[in-house]
Amino acid sequence: MNHCFCKYCGQKTLSISALTSGSCPRHPDGPSKGRHALYEGSEKTRYQCILCGQTAGSISGLTSATCHRHPNGPGKGRHQPAL
Ligand SMILES: [Zn+2]
Ligand SMILES: [Zn+2]
Repeated sequence: MNHCFCKYCGQKTLSISALTSGSCPRHPDGPSKGRHALYEGSEKTRYQCILCGQTAGSISGLTSATCHRHPNGPGKGRHQPAL
């Protein structure tokens, strides 16, 4: 069974509807300013930031930190997991 992950916070659910019905604490517009969004890549053992190349063992670990190459400016947003 494939799990669904939020690309912002790494929240794991069993269905897309369960995922996108909840508000996301790491939404780019601000904490709980929007809903979880589906991470469309496959489940991996390492996730890499598409912007700076930083890796982490989970989406939540990667997106817990801000990215120094974020398009909004250094540290103005979180790492974004590559697909
Ligand atoms: Zn989320
Ligand atoms: Zn990054």
